[in-house]
Amino acid sequence: MDHEGSAVVARHPPQTRHQATKESNMKKTALLALVLLSAPLVAQSGPGRGRGNGPGAPGSGTPASPAVSPLSTYLASLPKEALSTGETGLLAFLREEEKLARDVYRALFAEHGDWSFANIAAAEQRHMDEVKLLLDRYELPDPAAATAPGVFKDTPPAALYTDLVARGKTSLVEALKVGATIEDLDLADVGKALETSDNRDVDTVMQNLAKGSRNHLRAFSGRLAALGASYTAQYLTADQIAAIVAAPRERGALDENGALLAGSCAGQGQGGRGRGRGRGQGAGAGNGTCTGGGPGAGQGPGDGTGPNCPNK
Ligand code: ZN
Ligand code: ZN
Repeated sequence: MDHEGSAVVARHPPQTRHQATKESNMKKTALLALVLLSAPLVAQSGPGRGRGNGPGAPGSGTPASPAVSPLSTYLASLPKEALSTGETGLLAFLREEEKLARDVYRALFAEHGDWSFANIAAAEQRHMDEVKLLLDRYELPDPAAATAPGVFKDTPPAALYTDLVARGKTSLVEALKVGATIEDLDLADVGKALETSDNRDVDTVMQNLAKGSRNHLRAFSGRLAALGASYTAQYLTADQIAAIVAAPRERGALDENGALLAGSCAGQGQGGRGRGRGRGQGAGAGNGTCTGGGPGAGQGPGDGTGPNCPNK
């Protein structure tokens, strides 16, 4: 009896204390609410008006997400055309091929800490998103819906991932050569795919994937040259690779024939790289397609000056 009695006694005080604490918290909350309610009145009577200059919140304008990019706007304007079996398979293949690029670059960034891999991996994510626009448009299953890094539905990209990451880990030069290899492969595959596809929306996405790959090839080749190394063509011809590397970096989104889309930033502008300042009200006029491989596109007032740049 004693034992039971003491246990009961021992249980009571904590409950009581708990209830008391709860009550006290409620009072504090009520008091805080009162203070908060009266705060604006106090602030209005003061003469000072501070001006912050830290990085503002993202602008309320149009973000450069795939859902509202010039490319997606253009895609939405195109008619849906029946997909052949070849085109359906092509989209699943391209989705995984872009994932292969993204996952390899992420692994090589983790290994070497070289930011070119992080930046280009972000561009590959956008490429994946562009292919996903088509998968969604035609209500096709997504092979990369929930697959972990380096995991693929198809066997060839899985084998390539293992091989390329192992090679790329041996040195930074090898990693950059692996990058050039992936872009070379992507360009060869998209080139073949463009010959077999005749749907305008599918071709449009592929033209933009190819444009991105050409830019990435230029970036990797430039880094290799700076390190006294070079890339040897494996999928395209040596002449094709040399011609791409010699050409300037491409900006703006392309249509199904590879021509620059109207309204797409083609100038020298850096639209989309601006950051909201002061009171965090960036205009959000950045155009994601103007930023090339840069991350965080379209968050504030860019300083684009190109002739077709919407935010010049
Ligand atoms: Zn890509
Ligand atoms: Zn790429």
